[in-house]
This record gives sequence, C-alpha cells and structure tokens, in this order.
Amino acid sequence: MTIDKDSLQKAVNATIASFSGVKDGKNADYIPALAQVPSRLFGLAVVLADGTVIEAGDSRQEFAIESISKVFTLARVLDQIGPAALRQKIGADPTGEPFNSVMAIELHKGKPQNPFVNAGAIATTSLVAAKSKDDRWAQIISTYGDFAGRPLTVNEVIYKSEADTNQHNRGIAWLLQSYGYMYSDPMEATDVYTRQCSVNITAADLATMGATLANGGVNPRTGKQVVQSSNVPKILAEMCMSGLYDSTGDWMYKVGLPGKSGVGGGILAVVPGKLAIGAYSPPLDEFGNSVRGQLAAQALSEQFGLNLFARKA
Ligand code: GLU
Repeated sequence: MTIDKDSLQKAVNATIASFSGVKDGKNADYIPALAQVPSRLFGLAVVLADGTVIEAGDSRQEFAIESISKVFTLARVLDQIGPAALRQKIGADPTGEPFNSVMAIELHKGKPQNPFVNAGAIATTSLVAAKSKDDRWAQIISTYGDFAGRPLTVNEVIYKSEADTNQHNRGIAWLLQSYGYMYSDPMEATDVYTRQCSVNITAADLATMGATLANGGVNPRTGKQVVQSSNVPKILAEMCMSGLYDSTGDWMYKVGLPGKSGVGGGILAVVPGKLAIGAYSPPLDEFGNSVRGQLAAQALSEQFGLNLFARKA
C-alpha cells in the first residue's frame, strides 16, 4: 500500500484520540525520577524515509530515552568492530529472562546474549573504541544527535536519580568483568551507560532516529550517513529478537516490526525502506513497555499494512 501523507496524519491524530483514555499500566518507579513524570503525556510521530514528519499529541515533549539508547550505541560499536566481533562478544539471542537478570548472565557463562538486556548494553558501551571516559561519552552523545538530526542533552535530574540507584547495574558490570565480557573499566562503562539512558528525546526525535535506520543509515532530514548501511539489518535483527524485553514475541506477533522500548515510556518501530514510528506514554505494562505506545504502533501497523511478514499487494 502506498502511504498517503494526509491519511497518515489523520490516522496519527485518530490514534492519539482513541488511546488517550487508556489508563492501564504505571510509570516505572525503580528509578525515582521516572515515577514523577505525568502519566497522561502521550505523543506520536511518524517520520518517512523521505524526511516528512507527521505528528500529534505531546510529540515534542522531552523524556528519557532509557533502553532505546541501546540501539544507537550498538550502531556506533557495530561500525567500529563489525558484526562478527559483536556477535561473538555480545550475541544476538533473547535471554528469556528479565532485562536486568543476573541469572541470565550465570546461565550463559557470562555472555550477555544480546545488546538490549542491561548486561549486553553495558558491555556494548564498554566496547566503544575510546581513549577516555570523556571520549566514550562524546562519541555516544554525538552519535545520538546525528540520528536525531539535532544536538541532544542529558536530563540531569534523571541521571542523578539513576546514578544514585544503579547498584544492580554496577553488580552486573562486575559480574561481566569476572567472566571476561567487559571491555573497559566496569564502573566507567556503567556510569556512561547510565548517562546514555538519561538523554532527553521527543517522540519526533525518536521517529527521526528510526527513520535513519529505515533509510539505510542515512538521516533523511540531514542527509548524513550515521551508520554503515550494511550494519542496519544487524541492528534491526537484534530489535526483532529482544527489543521489547520479555514480550518481544508478543510484539512481533501483533505488530510485526523491529521495535525497541524504554522504561521512560518511549517506543520505536521501524519499517525498513519506508518509515519509523516514535511513541511516548509513560505508563508501562508488567514487562516494562509503554501500554499506549504499543497500542499506537499496532494500530498504525494494521491500518497501513506495515507488518513485515504480511504479503504486500
Ligand atoms: N536505565 C535503565 C536501567 O538500566 C534502563 C532500563 C530500560 O529502559 O529498560 O535500568
């Protein structure tokens, strides 16, 4: 189906209207600052591979990127070490355990299994080829900005709240170190990882970041090649397997698109060659995925026949 921009704008408006009343889920509260964010916020944006932006609701409201950051650090590292090394050092399989599971690390003799569980994400951050902590951070934040097409900044309130309460992630980093799956100082990697999770984005940014993946690694709004096009299918494959924590299979069943969610309430879905959907709504389901964000992505996927596994006319 060709996607007509007017129908897409109408559908985006209608999606916001029809799911605004959904009250299921609750904000993440294990990071105290996230519990304070108004639950009613709901933003939706679609960016097409030609750079057109279609948006509605609170699509310019900033929120913490959280786990969705893992996609873009992965992009940086894939460009630096290549897919074979990434697969050997991190992996591309679901763990079947919660995103911050220590047991999953033990079960796989230290191998994180994929870059989207916290263990794999902290290890991926540690793999950025950096001369110093500042250099590691500078590369990460500039990569995210290139994906979004604008400079991004850290939400310092969220960062402080996370840094004060990230003992579990620090434990994960030490455990990885003990198994030989940590590639820089573990506390440095954990702190940079915590900072990357605290970067502020909007639903419009998120859709632009995803559209860069949909467009073979070229940001459709700036024209910049942000990640090698040959690495994009690897990133999307990881999203298909582990993008929505422990309910990625359900998401694929319902939406049929590579996706990634974060506990800040953001959710991203990518339609290769066509577009990306960025949604934001803080209340999460039991797996840590935005309730209204999933409903919005599913509605658009069904309405426009976006499911990758469906026969195209
Ligand atoms: N900063 C969060 C953590 O490491 C991110 C988790 C997420 O969004 O899944 O716990």
